[in-house]
Amino acid sequence: MTESPSEKLKPTSEVDRTGRTLDIEQRFMAHVSPEPNSGCWLWAGPDGPKGYGTFHFRGSAMRAHRAAYQIWTGNPVGFICHKCDVRACVNPQHLYLGTHMDNMRDMRVRNRVATGDRNGAHTHPHRRPRGEVSGQSKLTLQSVQAIRNDTRNFTEIAKAYGVARSTIGRIKNNLLWRNEFSQ
Ligand SMILES: [Zn+2]
Repeated sequence: MTESPSEKLKPTSEVDRTGRTLDIEQRFMAHVSPEPNSGCWLWAGPDGPKGYGTFHFRGSAMRAHRAAYQIWTGNPVGFICHKCDVRACVNPQHLYLGTHMDNMRDMRVRNRVATGDRNGAHTHPHRRPRGEVSGQSKLTLQSVQAIRNDTRNFTEIAKAYGVARSTIGRIKNNLLWRNEFSQ
């Protein structure tokens, strides 16, 4: 299920200022741990602030998902958002160039993951915009599945997904999301 990046998206050719061609795709992929269920590419390289990965690219440290977008899609101007709600995901096919509003939505979705059953989506489901429910709840379950399959320790996983360590523990122990999975 996991596709090689070059099959669908052509990476931009990387030539540095001295004219040297860099094998940027290979260097990037060395830090990626593909998640077979969701297709997410989980960043397994150096961590940066707020749980985002850091990738050194064109002489500066970038957030890894932003670097991925730049490598495979083009120079991003604006916010890079996740279709899959997985902060650690760097699959360019799961990323899109969003507006500030999209970025805020991204953060709200992550909040829902973080707070589980107690959040407003559960206690006040009518407040959620129509059309959002089916797609996003499915994607959120994918994130939870990715967390379940993540072999790193709880602290690292929590950091990668931007949620509390206790949330990871509850997901791993099936206390969160049990209803959704048993459907
Ligand atoms: Zn993803």
